[in-house]
Amino acid sequence: MNINSEELEIMTQFVHGLCINDGREFSNWGLSRSTHPAVYVEPISYADVQAIVRNTAQFPTPVRPIGSMLSVTETVSNDGGTLLCTRKLDAILGLEVDGCGRQVVRVQAGCRLKKLNVWLQQQGWEIPFQAEIGEATVGSVTVGDTKESSLDGPGYFSSHVVAVLYINEYGNLRILSDQQDGAAFYEFKCSFGLSGIVVECLIEVRPASLCRANVALYAYQSPQALAEGILQLREQCDALLAVVILHQLFCFAEQRYQAGAGNMTPDSSQPHCEQYRLAKRLAIQHGFDGGDLPRPQGIVFSRSDFVNEYWRPVETENRLDFQYYEHDIGMLERVISESYRFTKSFEHDTGFVPTGWATYFVHRPEKERKPFGIYSGGSGISCSFDPLYSNPNDPLWQRFAKEYNRVAIDQLRGNPSPIQTQWLQPGDICIPRKLARERFTTPYYEQFLM
Ligand SMILES: Cc1cc2nc3c(=O)[nH]c(=O)nc-3n(C[C@H](O)[C@H](O)[C@H](O)COP(=O)(O)OP(=O)(O)OC[C@H]3O[C@@H](n4cnc5c(N)ncnc54)[C@H](O)[C@@H]3O)c2cc1C
Repeated sequence: MNINSEELEIMTQFVHGLCINDGREFSNWGLSRSTHPAVYVEPISYADVQAIVRNTAQFPTPVRPIGSMLSVTETVSNDGGTLLCTRKLDAILGLEVDGCGRQVVRVQAGCRLKKLNVWLQQQGWEIPFQAEIGEATVGSVTVGDTKESSLDGPGYFSSHVVAVLYINEYGNLRILSDQQDGAAFYEFKCSFGLSGIVVECLIEVRPASLCRANVALYAYQSPQALAEGILQLREQCDALLAVVILHQLFCFAEQRYQAGAGNMTPDSSQPHCEQYRLAKRLAIQHGFDGGDLPRPQGIVFSRSDFVNEYWRPVETENRLDFQYYEHDIGMLERVISESYRFTKSFEHDTGFVPTGWATYFVHRPEKERKPFGIYSGGSGISCSFDPLYSNPNDPLWQRFAKEYNRVAIDQLRGNPSPIQTQWLQPGDICIPRKLARERFTTPYYEQFLM
């Protein structure tokens, strides 16, 4: 059969996945951001993604990839453009040993972290990044910002990604890896989807390990004592997650310790583990809106079990919302003191306080491995101090978050994230223009390009 070039062009523009172009609205998980793309599309093959990127007439610029739309900011907004959802590209393609002898898992971009964790756990492997959020997709967290207090790991997902396959602005499939491409690869991982659409990743894994945890609630007399207490709790263990009730100077602390090899939560830790997991999941789902959490001591578990699924809430339901800021650990006392002062003054004026403040600790790599954005300050330890609330659309929470941005960013020099920090202004973050292709750049991102 002879195919002329015009017919070939038509064939490569054909998209098999679902396409919706009736002007309907799409919202994020928290129902705080909504967008009306001209086209919403769910590719079912890499060829589909290529055809979408190439066909500017049917799929208007900009093309914005999305995963589960969990993000709290306008990063998922794309009015009049093309929203490309990767949820159907979610296969786990298998374990392999890469050219440097590393054990890696090959996985498609739309795979959710819970699915990946369960699959790896069954094979006796794990990725050290095991944040509570199981619905986030691999593609999103490969090029976006994440945080968690990992056991023996940096604490952000993209650090474990050693190669990416992506579709560039011309619709071509490209591969970048740490071994072959060095700087270009590390820059791509800071690109938020502006340099291309990730379709597949190679992620380094290690033998599955167990975690032992002590959970407790501590009360302090002053913000300084609270900061010192958090640092001491961190020193005593291998990784600390703290949720602070700042206006009352309470700290809910989960101290994590390495507990040797293993992929299954031992029966001896049940039912305490499962009770704690379910209570914690509900607290996160509802934005820590009250209720007592169990405080188990000495439970041993597979951290994969604590990567949770969260249901899509309805408008009337309490649901998590948050703001993220990265600080150097040396700033923690000042961050807590000034945040306390601001919070008390806001409470005095309005009666409003956030439901909690999440504190994670992340190990920053050398600058070359994380050239831009959060964790790009060179080797060291970062902490976050992130206000949380249970209703993203509450006007007082929104006012608190906007005013606190000025404290955290201007006064405390904290680094925000375009995915995890809301109400940012131009200048709050700088994304190098060289990372952004016009085909993938929405107005939200345009304002941060330098
Ligand atoms: C209940 C809840 C709990 C959370 N807990 C945590 C936590 O513990 N730790 C943490 O770090 N975060 C947490 N988050 C935030 C969440 O993990 C991030 O926002 C994450 O990026 C969301 O993944 P997603 O698949 O929904 O991405 P989306 O929100 O759909 O997209 C996020 C960004 O990634 C880009 N993107 C998506 N797919 C691709 C792709 N294939 N190629 C290129 N770019 C792409 C999008 O364009 C967008 O800019 C939580 C959020 C919620 C709602």
